[in-house]
Amino acid sequence: MLYYSLNNPATRVTFKEATIQGQAPDKGLYFPEKIPTLPKEFFKNLSSLSREEIAYQVIRPFTGDTLPEEELRRIVRETIAFDFPLVPVTPDTWSLELFHGPTLAFKDVGARFMSRCLGYFVRGNNRPVTVLVATSGDTGGAVASGFYGVEGVNVVILYPSGKVSSVQELQLTTLGKNISALEVDGSFDDCQRMVKDAFVDPTLQQKLFLTSANSINVARWLPQQFYYFFAYQQWAAQSAPIISVPSGNFGNICAGLMAWAAGLPVGHFIAACNANDTIPLFLATGEFKSKVARPTLSNAMDVANPSNFVRILELFNKQLPELKKVLTSYSITDDETVATIKKLYTQYNYLPDPHGAVGYLALERYLDTHPGEKGIFLETAHPIKFYDTVEPVIGEKIALPPSVAPLLGKKKQSQKITARYEDLKDFLLSK
Ligand SMILES: *Cc1c(COP(=O)(O)O)cnc(C)c1O
Repeated sequence: MLYYSLNNPATRVTFKEATIQGQAPDKGLYFPEKIPTLPKEFFKNLSSLSREEIAYQVIRPFTGDTLPEEELRRIVRETIAFDFPLVPVTPDTWSLELFHGPTLAFKDVGARFMSRCLGYFVRGNNRPVTVLVATSGDTGGAVASGFYGVEGVNVVILYPSGKVSSVQELQLTTLGKNISALEVDGSFDDCQRMVKDAFVDPTLQQKLFLTSANSINVARWLPQQFYYFFAYQQWAAQSAPIISVPSGNFGNICAGLMAWAAGLPVGHFIAACNANDTIPLFLATGEFKSKVARPTLSNAMDVANPSNFVRILELFNKQLPELKKVLTSYSITDDETVATIKKLYTQYNYLPDPHGAVGYLALERYLDTHPGEKGIFLETAHPIKFYDTVEPVIGEKIALPPSVAPLLGKKKQSQKITARYEDLKDFLLSK
């Protein structure tokens, strides 16, 4: 399997090269040259297969011969070493809980898979790779945990001081070892700018082997297909499920569409967005108007120009009418998000996080006009990560999940720097 750049189909690389580079040199996103389909028997036998076997069969065509079977099986096993339960919420809806990984958000799967692939690919290199990443919250923790202890890889995470939740901050600052956290006196945009500057700095390029672990990397994007197969394995209703995905950069939902293209039965996809409504408007009007990102309660989805949407268009040969047969998108306001958290908790005894609440309400909206259908919303984070939003809404404290309690006793280890690029450069050169 080769991957081409969406900016220039003539640029072709292997899975290994795409993983190491992240983005093509022409700044295009990599896309697989073929969409593999899975045989009918695979779907017939799905209920009797282990999750590990399902994940292995799904991802194998994408890694091609860059990873030997044993290695890929090990990577997959370690990637999905936790639960993905499908929990009934209302008579017609289920929550696919993707927050049972080490950092309590769905990004764990992509980060764990990518870290292990990269670790394998750089084995035997004489200088370590430095993964540089800016985070607004969830990415940092998932990347830190995923890469922790991976030989030959150092990780440097930039996060905006005072702008991530305390749980998120502890997750990315308490590991030590090959993980360094830089607390930037600035915004998330400052962090991103500094990282971008580093990638084009010739002095750094000479001294360090720099790469990124952001969500456009194929090794973070493609394993997200697993969720959809795990959901279907637990699906007992007659008709194929409607699946609602809380969406920001549209990587997760794009992986869902890949799973569907591989043959997975899905009735319809819903891209659930917050007030950042670029895609809902695009699907409604056919016009792509990019805007400035607006801050919301579901802040992991505060994205104005979803970077993976070009991949979705590519999957549908840029045919909007074809795409609209499979995908609908709704924009949900913060007020609606709050009302949904309250409703699910008081009427159904289910506590969603703000992202899951957006996913649920978008699903409900679709089901209202499609009676008889049933659906799944992806619950992308544990509510404890957003306790400052959720606790005032329900008027109660959220019980601490077992993985958070030990974090609270740990000491934050971060280095404070200003938002000047020179500070980041000095730090990287001194390492
Ligand atoms: C990153 C994130 C999202 C958005 O996922 P995309 O793949 O960027 O669309 C949704 N919910 C949570 C909790 C996240 O951390």
